[in-house]
Amino acid sequence: MIEFRQVSKKYAQNVTALSDITLSVDKGELVFLAGPSGAGKSTLLKMIAAIERPSAGTVIVSDHDIGRIKNSGLPYLRRNLGLIFQQQRLLSDRSVLANVMLPLIVCGAARADAERRARAALDKVGLLDKAASAPQTLSGGEQQRVSIARAIVNRPQIILADEPTANLDRESANKVLDALKAFHAVGVTCLISTHDEQFLDTATRVIYLDHGKIIESWRRTTPQVPA
Ligand code: ADP
Ligand code: ADP
Repeated sequence: MIEFRQVSKKYAQNVTALSDITLSVDKGELVFLAGPSGAGKSTLLKMIAAIERPSAGTVIVSDHDIGRIKNSGLPYLRRNLGLIFQQQRLLSDRSVLANVMLPLIVCGAARADAERRARAALDKVGLLDKAASAPQTLSGGEQQRVSIARAIVNRPQIILADEPTANLDRESANKVLDALKAFHAVGVTCLISTHDEQFLDTATRVIYLDHGKIIESWRRTTPQVPA
């Protein structure tokens, strides 16, 4: 579903964010991208969404070559992606429900249908009771779960989450992660970046990045049960 072949990304002559990355992610996998700040995790996720293009090598997402995709093909690609990036803030001038409905309204969905689906998405992340609230009255973790609801309301096949648990306490972080895992459980392919080692205990696949390179990568078939 996602394939990187010898991919490098330079932002400037002397800033190599990724170098010689080769990896593939199958449909339905849940992959954690781990590594310290500056390792290249965001850049890797951005390349899957064609927010950044490779400087060298090939990135294939759902049979599309990201390096060759035309700007006119971007909406089609992104409709298939649920993006949870820090820079995508919730809109403070409308309710939680309206925020989650927005991607559907933009795609031309009828209001009643959009509302029903947005409520279903909020229910999945455990925040249906906050539908009428203003986003800024929610905790950081709750806002992040609303962002997840907004990202999945279009039923994307792939979810990309960049440090979704950053700045959250343990309990809120766990709820955010559980919300993401609920979509993985219904077959959505998930890539989640984190520098929080604790989440990796229950992971089935982890790719460690440092200085733009994969330094370690593993898969296991049965998740380890934490003691
Ligand atoms: P991470 O997500 O692991 O923190 P990033 O992908 O954000 O890593 O960054 C990898 C490297 O690329 C860092 O050295 C960062 O400073 C650099 N970088 C990221 N985005 C840009 C950009 N838009 N312009 C220039 N350098 C960038
Ligand atoms: P239905 O018409 O089956 O009720 P909805 O559109 O109301 O479908 O369901 C939306 C919910 O489906 C979302 O809130 C989310 O929980 C879940 N969902 C999101 N993406 C996917 C997906 N790719 N595959 C399956 N379920 C998904």
